Amino acid sequence: MSDPLTDPLTDPVAASVPDGLAQAPVAVVSASSLDVGSDRIELIDSVGVEASKDDQGEHGASQAGHADGSTTAALGRLRRVVKPPIHWSDMGLDQRKEGMRRLGLPAFRADQISRHYFERHETDPATWSDLPQAARAQVMEFFPELLHDLVDRLADGGTTVKSLYRLFDQVLVECVLMRYPRHARSELGGEADDRSTSPGVRSTLCVSCQAGCGIGCPFCATGQAGLQRNLSAGEIIEQVRRAIVALNSGDLPLGAGNLNNVVFMGMGEPLANYRAVMTAIRAICAPVPAGFGVSARGVTVSTSGMVPRIKDLAGEGLPLTLAVSLHAPDDGLRDELVPLNRRWPVAEVLDAARGYFETTGRRVSIEYAMMRDINDQGFRADHLARLLNARGSGWAHVNLIPLNPTPGSKWTASRRRDEADFIARLESHHITTTLRDTRGQDIDGACGQLAARFS
Ligand code: SF4
Repeated sequence: MSDPLTDPLTDPVAASVPDGLAQAPVAVVSASSLDVGSDRIELIDSVGVEASKDDQGEHGASQAGHADGSTTAALGRLRRVVKPPIHWSDMGLDQRKEGMRRLGLPAFRADQISRHYFERHETDPATWSDLPQAARAQVMEFFPELLHDLVDRLADGGTTVKSLYRLFDQVLVECVLMRYPRHARSELGGEADDRSTSPGVRSTLCVSCQAGCGIGCPFCATGQAGLQRNLSAGEIIEQVRRAIVALNSGDLPLGAGNLNNVVFMGMGEPLANYRAVMTAIRAICAPVPAGFGVSARGVTVSTSGMVPRIKDLAGEGLPLTLAVSLHAPDDGLRDELVPLNRRWPVAEVLDAARGYFETTGRRVSIEYAMMRDINDQGFRADHLARLLNARGSGWAHVNLIPLNPTPGSKWTASRRRDEADFIARLESHHITTTLRDTRGQDIDGACGQLAARFS
């Protein structure tokens, strides 16, 4: 019998998906294709939590995403995926300098190259005339094309753009760029970074951090597809760079502008892919030439409730906005809507969210998708308000998300009157409440609609 931890031809999870956690088929990798070396292979569990040797002990990561928390059971679900090629944006400063040394180039070239990528958003070394001709060819190896354009779909008069990309292993991911007149409230949380070349406009990018998602929320198109794999930091950062290029070009409606907000609300559970997401966030927020210079206050990380990782995030020393996808205040319903609740129930998730506020001073966004006759009853609004108020005042606000209308489906949008009653009840308990304006519904680009299908 093959060893599931060492045999790349094996998919050990196929027959052992934990209760409620979705699993997509994984492309079988032939041994002959593994010319990238063993360090380009990653062990992940069924929600995408890394379980490489150096991570298991430190964070208990191999248990982190499992309803039963059993190490043995978790190991039985581990599988191997081949990682994407390493990109300049995956590397830290020391790695970049080491890369220069290996190529026989002086260390200062690392700074030059970073300026091309993070300041001028360029990826073709052949055009970099400040590098010697021979060096241009050498540094090509750091700029593999990570995202291949398949199609951009427009909605809302062109102010919403959903981009579908194919990755190196044929996996598909999507991200959504949304532009708003500046007077409009940010529908996706966080504070706008106010630097803009188009002062009347704000731009928000909703990025994906995994191909698919293993959490398996039954109302979510991404969750139905299951998890394919984690994205690398470079694959996340490239989504951002491409959005910046599109915004700077002036070709989009509302004119040229900067990227003000990045929200990790696309495909995947960001805290299940913690290391890559944090590398990406640092690159997004660091000033040029180490990063794109987006304000950390404009970055939102949305989680379905991975409690240990919420605590880790609080300790990162960054003023990020945390969004918690709660969707139900009672464990009975939340066990069904967000299967991860069986591992970390409502009270633990809210305690961790409150802890995040205490550590960072950043108000937490409680996300609540309104589903007709499922979770939109008045008594649940009262229950939610009591849970939040029991942990103090002013530390969280509730962001209600109208589910996308799917007539005839069990999972469809609430009635307007139920929505209004839910808001009124929360506000009567002094809970600040907002109702998100759904964007991109007609291109399946709204919340819970990203399924990365190409048709
Ligand atoms: S709602 Fe979020 S956590 Fe749940 S399946 Fe969809 S992408 Fe994953």
